[in-house]
This record gives sequence, C-alpha cells and structure tokens, in this order.
Amino acid sequence: GGEATLQLILRGYGKGQKLVLTQDVTERLRSEAMRRDFVANVSHEIRTPLTVLAGFVETMQSLPLSAAERGRVLTLMSEQTGRMQALVSDLLTLAQLEGSPLPPTDSLAPLGKLLQRALADGQTLSGGRHQWLPPEPALTDSWTERVAIAGRESELLSAVQNLVTNAVRYTPTGGQIGLVARLRDDAGLVIEVHDNGPGIAREHLARLTERFYRVDPSRARETGGTGLGLSIVKHVMQRHGGELDIESMPGKGSRFRLVLPAARVVRPDAVAAGDQS
Ligand code: ADP
Repeated sequence: GGEATLQLILRGYGKGQKLVLTQDVTERLRSEAMRRDFVANVSHEIRTPLTVLAGFVETMQSLPLSAAERGRVLTLMSEQTGRMQALVSDLLTLAQLEGSPLPPTDSLAPLGKLLQRALADGQTLSGGRHQWLPPEPALTDSWTERVAIAGRESELLSAVQNLVTNAVRYTPTGGQIGLVARLRDDAGLVIEVHDNGPGIAREHLARLTERFYRVDPSRARETGGTGLGLSIVKHVMQRHGGELDIESMPGKGSRFRLVLPAARVVRPDAVAAGDQS
C-alpha cells in the first residue's frame, strides 16, 4: 500500500485519444512528510525548555525570593538554556552535513588524535564516575598514531564524541566504558565504544538513528541529550562510505561500532595487519 501516483491526463483534440503521464511521487510525499515531522519535532523540542524558562522568569518577577532560592532558579534556567544550545548546535551540525560536499579523500584525520580527544572529552563529562577500559586506551595503543582516516576530521571527531558522550550519559556511576580501535583483516578500521550500562531492547535498535528517537524520552532529556546524536553519527559514517553498527543487550550493555572501509584508511608505514600491538 501507500503507492501514490500522479496522473496527468492530456486529451487529444477531438478524437478521444488520451496521453497519460504517470509519475511515481511516493518518494516525494515521503520526504515531505518527513520534513513536516522534523519541523514539528524541532518546534516541540524548543518549546518545552522555552515554556519552562518563561515560567521561571515569571516566578522571579512576581515572587520575593531569597538569595538561595534565586540561585536555585537560576541553575534550573541555565540547564534549560543549555538544552536549547545543544539542540541548536546539533541542528547546525546536521544542516552542515547536509549542505557540505562529501568529505575529501585527500585530507587526513589522524586516528590517535581523534581517539585522544574523544576520550578526554568523555572523561571530563564522566568526572571520575566511570571506569575506562582499557585504562587510557588510546594513549597506550601506539599503532593508532600511525594511522589516519581519509576524510573530514571535524565530522569524524563528532561521530566518536557522540558515541563516547552517550556511553557516559547512559551508563550509571561505577559502570565501565571502553574506547578501542582495531584494523580488520580487510584493512578496514573499526572504532568501538562499549559500555556495561542499561542496554537497549531489540525493538528499538533499528530506530535509534532516527532524528529525535529516544528509548525513554523523559530520561533521555534529563541526561541532556538532543535526540540527534546517533543520526549525526550515521550520517557522518555514510558520507565516509562506512557504517554504524549497534549491538546491545538489555541489562548487559551496548556496543557501538564505527566501521570504515579500507579505502578510507591510510597507513603510511603499512605493514602486516597483525602490527596492532
Ligand atoms: P540522545 O541525545 O537522546 O542521547 P541519540 O541519538 O544520541 O540521542 O541516542 C538515541 C537514543 O539511544 C537515546 O535516547 C538512548 O535511549 C539510546 N542510547 C544511545 N546510546 C546509548 C547507550 N550507550 N546506552 C543505552 N542507550 C543508549
């Protein structure tokens, strides 16, 4: 079902002949519906923090608050502005991804640097609440210093950062998070972020990369997520000819893998694939 056709009928002069032009507009209707949904979602995501903010402003205007109360209200207000800032920043990232040319194959993103920056950001966000596996992973794997990815560094960094940030956000205090990279037998590259957090039920997996899709909307918002992270990651991977693989087991944890094809992996001193230690 759902097949939509547009028929344009041109009648011939006088003789009853008809010329019927049929064009399949299924795809166009689908993308229009998606755009409408997207705009509705964005509006909702902006309106929610805005409503909360407006409420706080009114409170401050109409009630005599003690200094401590004012402090608390201001903290809550700053959380809401932070949410809107994150949303706008992710929306801009998506718009840039859609509007910019495909990542060049002649610019190099050094793998070691990518991993170290993502790790450092993750550890800052974690604030010592998680255990990192292996300890200081990117810093000990010296082979990553000799590998680069052909592509756009800013995009690739945001992909790794998004996965690490999610692991930190969704894994409870005391949990373990791992960031590892390895070369595959076919010379492709895998960057993997795994955690022993809550995991994700099977029925959600296929939809995780949809914009604004969240397993648990109220919880996800508390964690500060915009709902756009994984759609950004998927987009970046597609643009680099790679893919995002997700495996998860409720109660056990999740494993997100960025898989890049051999064509995007540059090893100046390429030796055997076994040189990974
Ligand atoms: P969000 O900003 O809500 O984190 P994402 O697109 O990054 O949006 O992720 C979509 C959803 O996938 C999240 O809302 C969360 O339900 C789930 N998710 C992502 N990463 C993890 C993880 N490491 N562990 C458990 N659930 C996760």
